[in-house]
Amino acid sequence: MKIENAVWGTQIPAREFAMSINGNRVVSKDTDFAINPATGQPIAAYPLATRQHLDQAVQAAKTAFDTWRHTSFSERQKALNGLADQIEANYEAFLTLLTMEQGKPRAGAEWEIGGSIYWLREIGKQSLPEEVVRDEGENKVVTRYTPIGVIGGITPWNFPLLLAVWKIAPALMAGNTMVLKPSPYTPLCTLWFGELAQKILPPGVLNIVSGGNEPGRWMTEHPDIGKIAFTGSTATGKKVMASAASNLKRLTLELGGNDPAIVLPDVDPEAIARDLFWASFQNSSQFCVATKRLYIHEQIYDRAVAALVDYARTVKVDNGLLVESQLGPLQNRMQYDKVRDLLRDSVAQGHQILLGGLPTDTRGFFIPVTIIDNPPDESRCVVEEAFGPVLPVLKYRDIDEAIDRANRTEYGLAASVWSADVAKAQAVARRLEAGTVWINQIHVFGPDIAFGGHKQSGMGIENSLHGLAGYCNMQTIMERPLNV
Ligand code: NAD
Repeated sequence: MKIENAVWGTQIPAREFAMSINGNRVVSKDTDFAINPATGQPIAAYPLATRQHLDQAVQAAKTAFDTWRHTSFSERQKALNGLADQIEANYEAFLTLLTMEQGKPRAGAEWEIGGSIYWLREIGKQSLPEEVVRDEGENKVVTRYTPIGVIGGITPWNFPLLLAVWKIAPALMAGNTMVLKPSPYTPLCTLWFGELAQKILPPGVLNIVSGGNEPGRWMTEHPDIGKIAFTGSTATGKKVMASAASNLKRLTLELGGNDPAIVLPDVDPEAIARDLFWASFQNSSQFCVATKRLYIHEQIYDRAVAALVDYARTVKVDNGLLVESQLGPLQNRMQYDKVRDLLRDSVAQGHQILLGGLPTDTRGFFIPVTIIDNPPDESRCVVEEAFGPVLPVLKYRDIDEAIDRANRTEYGLAASVWSADVAKAQAVARRLEAGTVWINQIHVFGPDIAFGGHKQSGMGIENSLHGLAGYCNMQTIMERPLNV
């Protein structure tokens, strides 16, 4: 098939990407380029915020808070639906832009853009009514949820728009205003969404500032920001937490993971090979909750590994703008170098590489799907979060040993258990140290489902009413008549 015929995507109107500050389009004299990871070529320039831009954005959000905090539930719901409408009206262009800047093929882009629309509408239905916790005649105790103020949102490059929406929707719904900074690697969809949002929201309610890591750091230390909602690596999360201590900011930290999957001996290995493949390699494994260690019982190990490799050979890795592409490149050079270094280590250690290995493709940042056969537990490819398509498959003999090895990590984001016996899988799931455990499925999320990491995978919750509560202060009011 000729490449030209295989390309999908819509024309994106030529535009100068701008920040949104106090309802205005704001450019900067300093810019950088967003790079298409499939080609290594620049897509468009984006502004680099100065400290002054950030201060203006925070001030605008602070001023807007005085009014936005008093808006009704239905006004906020209408606003969130309006934001969803803006994405929906530009759906094809968002898909194309996301694939160009992030690298993911169309199916993944549909999941992310469709998910962003869905989340805005569903979070728009959530509220936290006051609770009367004691009602003793004239004596009453009431707990209510009040907005925090200005929220600082900081996002990574793997799901740039969806993870921004996971913050924007509950923050605004709870009555806060926001300054959000996208990753320097993938700023374009977020900047464009920010501009569209200004048609819906009053000035200052949602401000988007772009730049490198610096504006993120400025946000974490800013005295007028009351909470940081951060998704990114554990290493950066620790810096955010330290810096946020300056004014005791509230924090939600969604950080790294090294998720195990445990496959019990009662499964049909050929039947689940496809699911296990995507559990690990979806979004080219640039997924905080990708399966990063696959534990398979020794009785079915050889068959399961053979089925996994057979399936993997059928998957097409290419530029996400090609119709037949199922997996795209890594998103950026930094991550590409990191994963290549991990692979070099595996090669040097003499690991048995069943598929893939060091990259030979010189276009963009492509790393082949790589499956490593039973490397030692202390190998770098087992211990570290690869965040790229390198999967160690590990053999186990008894379930206690598998659970122990699965839990032997500083991370605790998610895990999965695969078995024909759901009760057995349940028993294993309950012993895993992870914020989410899927049984015979993976990567199911919902606006109503609490998501958050244990251990060094984070703190706080996104989604569900617990997530919404994370954007609120709780206030207890106790009343009784005056004793006269
Ligand atoms: P990163 O930590 O390098 O960057 C994340 C964001 O933080 C970027 O916007 C960056 O500019 C900003 N930043 C960098 N230094 C900062 C500082 N000192 N202060 C404030 N902000 C700063 O992460 P990444 O490489 O963009 O993303 C990959 C990581 O994100 C992986 O570890 C992955 O597991 C994690 N992740 C977690 C989840 C989750 O929900 N738990 C979801 C997606 C990704």
